[in-house]
Amino acid sequence: MVHATTLKIMRSTMMDLPLQVSRILEHGATVHGGSTVVSWTGGEPRRLPYAQVGAQAAQLAHALRHDLGVTGDQRIGTFMWNNAEHLVAYLAVPSMGAVLHTLNIRLFPEQLAYVANHAEDRVIIVDSTLVPLLAKVLPQMSTVEHVVLVGGADPAPLMAAGPHLSVHHWDDLLRGKPTRYDWPEVDESDAAALCYTSGTTGNPKGVAYSHRSIWLHSMQVCMREAFGLGPQSTALVIVPMFHAMAWGLPYAAFMSGASLVMPDRFLQAEPIAAMIATERPTLAGAVPTIWTDLLSYLDRNEVDTSTLKEAIVGGSACPPALMHAFSERHGVEIIHAWGMTEMSPLGSVSRPPIGVAGQEAWDYRYTQGRIPAGVAARIIGPDGQPAPADGEAVGELEVRGPWVTSRYVGDDEPDAEKFRDGWLRTGDVGTLSPDGYLTLTDRAKDVIKSGGEWISSVELENALMAHPAVLEACVVGVPDDRWGERPLATVVLKEGVSATVTELWDFLAGRAARWQLPERWSFIEAVPKTSVGKFDKKEVRARYAAGAIDVVLV
Ligand code: AMP
Repeated sequence: MVHATTLKIMRSTMMDLPLQVSRILEHGATVHGGSTVVSWTGGEPRRLPYAQVGAQAAQLAHALRHDLGVTGDQRIGTFMWNNAEHLVAYLAVPSMGAVLHTLNIRLFPEQLAYVANHAEDRVIIVDSTLVPLLAKVLPQMSTVEHVVLVGGADPAPLMAAGPHLSVHHWDDLLRGKPTRYDWPEVDESDAAALCYTSGTTGNPKGVAYSHRSIWLHSMQVCMREAFGLGPQSTALVIVPMFHAMAWGLPYAAFMSGASLVMPDRFLQAEPIAAMIATERPTLAGAVPTIWTDLLSYLDRNEVDTSTLKEAIVGGSACPPALMHAFSERHGVEIIHAWGMTEMSPLGSVSRPPIGVAGQEAWDYRYTQGRIPAGVAARIIGPDGQPAPADGEAVGELEVRGPWVTSRYVGDDEPDAEKFRDGWLRTGDVGTLSPDGYLTLTDRAKDVIKSGGEWISSVELENALMAHPAVLEACVVGVPDDRWGERPLATVVLKEGVSATVTELWDFLAGRAARWQLPERWSFIEAVPKTSVGKFDKKEVRARYAAGAIDVVLV
């Protein structure tokens, strides 16, 4: 008897080619060899085609391997601004099998030494302009043996750090090295890059990204649903490469052929405006404080922003007033995005659904955005149970996915405060809508708990920042005998304008519930910022507790 045969497919027969950073490097350097990275210098910008970036990456890998003896997964720290050499290091270090550790130059010296020692960095690549800063902490970085100096600064301050250190010049190291490297095959789950959180409490914690997570994340970043990168794009990367991998833009650009504009140390509004006018980026990414400064500059100066169609804003909540101002006065659409160092960092991007217009579209754009397929998200209610994604139930957001970390570097077990049953506890509080949009109301630790009710500090800030005289507003909870906590509003006024507390209180009264309105007000010179440019609410609370803030009561 003849049996009919059925084709039974138990396993896929797809090839198992590992997802390696070296494939991003080779692809960008060949297929997109003509795309360029521009580094701002304050004078003539430096332009490097991706073919040359690829050649330099091979040379750097040869130098690290053969001159400095880097093997295995040794950590190579970078102490650099956003520029072409940093991009070369981003690509070369993981491709050769080592681990790139981006050091946040704005951390306190003790924290910097802590992260370099914790990661056991063996080599540090430093920009000339950052030599004085590094020289101060280098003696405390006990595992560093080599420093590679980019640019022409005097290496003496680095050499003074200790006799065990050798200092090399980038150009000397790379000169004459082969422009091709036989990149090793690595396991795609091996670490490729390392970034420490910029948490304001306790020591920073390390997050190790794998080759695989970088690949999948980069593909997501390129999607139209996210930043929509392609050969037609030029991305101005203002978000530092030492913070959350510059939101994945450098790898995504190399993968997609998008050109890059790198501001180096020129992060003030005037040079940023000049970069936009002359380098003609189509997209830019930065935290809200940078956009706030740029907006005041653009309002006062004639600048051609016509190519800049979209500005990605994330890192902290983007005030709706900022979105409207850019769109209505300068033709730039602000795309709100949310993420975390622990998430590579992309979590969500706020593009309204197709076909939605008018105020409804704006309402979508105010949200933190839509969660992509690669990220699973849930809201955990106050009872510790998952709450419905109905746009109403408020709770802590938890996430999981292939580019979300499952534990911090060096921890044997996931830290119970940050992880629960395989989910990352984001510490962010908000809602999820049935169509996947995330709206954050606050950080769990910044929510103001007043008489058993919660007040969102972010909502009060957003409402205040819509006042024409207000440049920045930072609201924090402060102890109150009767209510437990009440909001304190600290306000920075725009240059040359005035407003009274009563006026601001009246303005807020039209936009927030009466019981939420702050009784305590203060006009301040500037809001203190963290190492990555966010409002430092811990510092504001500490200044208030120390009596260092002049408070007006209403
Ligand atoms: P970091 O790891 O330094 O990038 O910080 C991540 C945290 O920044 C998140 O957990 C949020 O609290 C905050 N954050 C990032 N993007 C946004 C956003 N668009 N709106 C509100 N908070 C944000």
